Amino acid sequence: MAQTAVPSRAIGTVHLVGAGPGDPDLLTLRAARLITQAQLIVHDGLVDPAILAMAPANARFVSVAKSRARHTMAQDDINALLVREALAGNDVVRLKGGDPFVFGRGGEEAEACAAAGVPVSVVPGISAAMGAAAAAGIALTHRDAASIVSFVAGQCKGLTEQDWAGLAGKGRTLVIYMGVATAAAITDKLIADGLSPDIPVAVVENATRYDMRVLRGVLAGLDNLVTTHRVKSPALIIIGDVAARQNAASLARLAETVR
Ligand code: SAH
Repeated sequence: MAQTAVPSRAIGTVHLVGAGPGDPDLLTLRAARLITQAQLIVHDGLVDPAILAMAPANARFVSVAKSRARHTMAQDDINALLVREALAGNDVVRLKGGDPFVFGRGGEEAEACAAAGVPVSVVPGISAAMGAAAAAGIALTHRDAASIVSFVAGQCKGLTEQDWAGLAGKGRTLVIYMGVATAAAITDKLIADGLSPDIPVAVVENATRYDMRVLRGVLAGLDNLVTTHRVKSPALIIIGDVAARQNAASLARLAETVR
């Protein structure tokens, strides 16, 4: 019997796109182009509404917003959604806060796509650490203060098993993502690792957004700082001498006036 050729439908591409820390001006040109041409956008809760508003009026949006306690869609379901849409011939803009490969599960999504034969492109974004540092006037490295910078995740899950020894201290900057809810446990962990309770800390909430706040203190007072000021996610904790450098506060004020 003669075989009927089934016309093969082109497979779409999944673009893992970093949306940066919030301010739409901080998108890369490539991210902006993909968003303005998108037909399907699958996005996290962290992506600023002003960025979503750049998409064409007829674009489809799927929110897969995650928060520490509330997962609207499990990661496996997100992976399956991306693969399904691409195999159906649709290009997908998978929009993530910050950078897709920094605490963004972009690695898992890229692997799931590759396993299903779906092409993937990765568009880097400005990660929250870079956005917060710039907006708060805190140099993450500084020849007089720090030549090492580390990024860690402060979520409850696995916090005690994570080995942060040596990541914070003299000459080093530690940036903690997702650490607001666990500020007390983080403080205990770092002090148990031998860190001085007097080491400077800065907390940057809603970095690069209109409602950004920068709070400063020392490690021993971190939990109190977060509680007293009712700091909410998204916020970053920066630990190290760079957080207290004298020019940091004045730089941040200068930035306020030029916005
Ligand atoms: N992929 C993202 C990180 C996702 S994890 C990136 O590269 O930035 C989510 C955490 O990022 C939040 O809990 C918070 O710690 C941090 N974060 C993201 N956007 C932020 C912002 N605008 N201000 C402060 N912290 C932010």
